[in-house]
Amino acid sequence: MSATDTRIAIIGAGVGGLTLALALRERGIDAEIYERTHELREVGAAVYLAANASRFIERWGLGPAFSEVSWEPTALIYRDGRDGHVIARHDETESGRYGAPGHGIHRADLQQILADAVGHDRIHLGKEITSYSQEGDEVTIQFADGTNAQADLVVGADGARSIVRELMVGDDDKIYTGRSGFRGLVHVKDLPSLPDPETIQFWIGVKRMPWEGDDWTVAADPEEHLKLFEGWHPAVIEMISAPTFDRRWALNRRPALSQWSDGRVVLLGDAAHALVPHHGQGANITVEDAVVLARCLCEAGPGGIDDALVSYQDQRLERTARVQKASYVTADVLHLPDGPEATERNGNLASTDWMHGQLDWIHSYNADPNFEKVTFA
Ligand SMILES: Cc1cc2nc3c(=O)[nH]c(=O)nc-3n(C[C@H](O)[C@H](O)[C@H](O)COP(=O)(O)OP(=O)(O)OC[C@H]3O[C@@H](n4cnc5c(N)ncnc54)[C@H](O)[C@@H]3O)c2cc1C
Repeated sequence: MSATDTRIAIIGAGVGGLTLALALRERGIDAEIYERTHELREVGAAVYLAANASRFIERWGLGPAFSEVSWEPTALIYRDGRDGHVIARHDETESGRYGAPGHGIHRADLQQILADAVGHDRIHLGKEITSYSQEGDEVTIQFADGTNAQADLVVGADGARSIVRELMVGDDDKIYTGRSGFRGLVHVKDLPSLPDPETIQFWIGVKRMPWEGDDWTVAADPEEHLKLFEGWHPAVIEMISAPTFDRRWALNRRPALSQWSDGRVVLLGDAAHALVPHHGQGANITVEDAVVLARCLCEAGPGGIDDALVSYQDQRLERTARVQKASYVTADVLHLPDGPEATERNGNLASTDWMHGQLDWIHSYNADPNFEKVTFA
């Protein structure tokens, strides 16, 4: 069997599944993607791709397509959510400091560009995995529509609510972090009070909302968040008034796994290591996973899948656990109530050296430094 004959089934056409297909293609391996939804339609929010992911977007020749629908923030600003005063401002761009552009992009645009590059003939829609079984070196995947597929390797890139992980771990092991969020998009013309709209901004403050039940989302009373933020800065009120929030999202965490594979089934992205969003890194380290897994498979060569999975896990476990932990710490720090700890935090955020210490090891990372350029098919 040659590397190109290896049958790879990717579960999920999200950031991880699509970028893995691209990273494999670059290495001469075509994969099949099985996606639960009947159409590709990521909705509801934007995502920021930092240099640790965008360096590969550039390498795959997708930079121009991204530039048409994304923008690179000119600064990172932290403000007090109540009166809007600037706590910290850093006027460095992603490309200026880390050598690859930052892309602020709508999730639907991101998915569209990646899917077009993969090729829609490789993406099988309406295929929701319900179980898998293994015999020898072959995996059989069962779908909800009663069909099945066989592969030499199955990659569970099915997101934070991963069924593949659940099948592997034997349980839904999510843990509620004590925080929840609303997701929405607002056109900048609806934010007349927002200063510096071309930047990334955190408007900081603490409001407590209880969470009941075990679901990932709950119905939101369209007025409840407005009451909570009464009296806050007009830009905050504009941000939360413009979209209709009909769901509130639990921010859950997953315990770190010590083993990412079960035979010929392996996890990637949020399925392996979901973060909370406060470090803006979930998609970025998912792209890193994709690049590393493709390289490991290529290096191990035909017949070397088992070695490749060991190598992939060895290279990803420590870094993803570190970024995962950093996202939890950042969430805690950004939600400190007024007091000495919050004052110390504000001082740290304003320090360029401190910020570089927090961000450089994440953003400057190159998951594939020794890649030799090959023609993108
Ligand atoms: C509001 C919000 C903002 C974010 N902002 C950022 C940011 O700024 N920067 C950043 O780096 N990250 C960000 N993230 C995190 C980022 O979106 C995720 O980490 C990233 O999408 C993970 O990629 P993934 O491929 O693992 O999962 P996903 O992108 O979620 O893709 C999973 C795919 O699997 C499919 N699927 C699910 N179950 C099945 C099944 N049973 N069978 C078949 N298919 C299935 C889903 O339909 C989906 O298409 C944000 C997340 C949220 C929610």
